Amino acid sequence: MKFYSTRDTSKKLFPLDQAAFLGLAPDGGLFVPERIPKVDLERVKELAGRSYADMAGYLAGVIFDDVPADVIDEVVRKAYDFDIRFHKFDSRKSALELFHGPTFAFKDFGARFMGQMTGKLNTTDGLTILTATSGDTGSAVAGGFYNVPGVDVVILYPDGKVSPLQEAQMTTLGGNIHPLRVRGNFDDCQRLVKTMFSDTDLRGRKRITSANSINLLRWIPQSFYYFWAYAIWSQTHCGAPDVVVPSGNYGNITAGMLAARMGMPVRRFVAASNANDVVPEFLITGDYLPRASVRTVANAMDVGAPSNYERMMWLYGSIGALRREVVGFSASDQEILAAIREIEDKYGYISDPHSAIGYLAAKHYDIDGYWLSTASPAKFGEVIEAATGHWPEIPTALRLRMDSERVYKMMDASADDLKEYLLSL
Ligand SMILES: *Cc1c(COP(=O)(O)O)cnc(C)c1O
Repeated sequence: MKFYSTRDTSKKLFPLDQAAFLGLAPDGGLFVPERIPKVDLERVKELAGRSYADMAGYLAGVIFDDVPADVIDEVVRKAYDFDIRFHKFDSRKSALELFHGPTFAFKDFGARFMGQMTGKLNTTDGLTILTATSGDTGSAVAGGFYNVPGVDVVILYPDGKVSPLQEAQMTTLGGNIHPLRVRGNFDDCQRLVKTMFSDTDLRGRKRITSANSINLLRWIPQSFYYFWAYAIWSQTHCGAPDVVVPSGNYGNITAGMLAARMGMPVRRFVAASNANDVVPEFLITGDYLPRASVRTVANAMDVGAPSNYERMMWLYGSIGALRREVVGFSASDQEILAAIREIEDKYGYISDPHSAIGYLAAKHYDIDGYWLSTASPAKFGEVIEAATGHWPEIPTALRLRMDSERVYKMMDASADDLKEYLLSL
């Protein structure tokens, strides 16, 4: 399987390793597969009954068909050593809990696959992943690449501007993970990273790549859990499910849309957003108006110009086709907080703010299916406390990380210092 850019009408093809190391296509578009393979659903159902890694291995082999089977097998076994499960609310509604991985959010599914696969594709010399983070991406990338041979990870984050929990997730691993605490804000971190990528002298001396969320090695494996969910759901339900996806940058839901094109039955997708509702608005008005994001209590979805919009339009071709399969929903902060309270009162269950939007959308459309639960409430203690009056339970693994020693390097927002540091690695 080769890949091309959503912006390239001539469809110039890139092999997997090139597309993965580039991240973004040279013309600024997003990589998509040259064709959409069909999946054997009976096979998926059989394998989902065994283990998530088995099923992911089959699906990865279908789409990455030029990667040897033993390599894929090792990648999925190392990437997927954690649980995935449904939490049933009633006979028509469940939450698909995707947050039982090491960083307690669904991004582990993409980041860990990318980490392991990058290690396998990177057969020549060392590779440095360079990334700027305002919090969550950094922890997922650090977790995903931890101990991957031949790969160093350098993470820039703004001094004093990430939560203690997020900082702990980036700075307590050690080994090949190198956190840099930058005296500046997130924009400074991003600017420094961009400067490094455009420094031809540095790039001639050091192989650096980014690991941002639009990388196809993070995007494609997110389609696998949609198959797993359908396989388990179809054991007790007939027909096709409604699938609600709390969305920000639209990587998660477009991976589901890819799964649908590969043969996963779906009745409709619900694109559920917070106050940053560009896509739900687009579904109603037909006008796509990206804008600056606003801050909400579901801050991992605070995106005003979703990068994966281009993949969504590539998958459907027109707004008419999109509207036949996708509906939108958006919730205000007040509605999110009220939903967290309601879920606790009615079901005795603590939901994180992002997943609570999924619950609201599921209720609004009276779905028969499930919403994707994208994070553990333990990651959003302040919001849970504001909604319910008490702090959520913190899993032992997370508490241990919080108590571990944080190791990072303080750095000025200086491109020269960063370059020197990268060359010294
Ligand atoms: C990243 C994230 C989202 C949004 O996912 P997208 O793929 O950007 O749409 C939702 N919830 C949580 C907890 C996240 O970390």
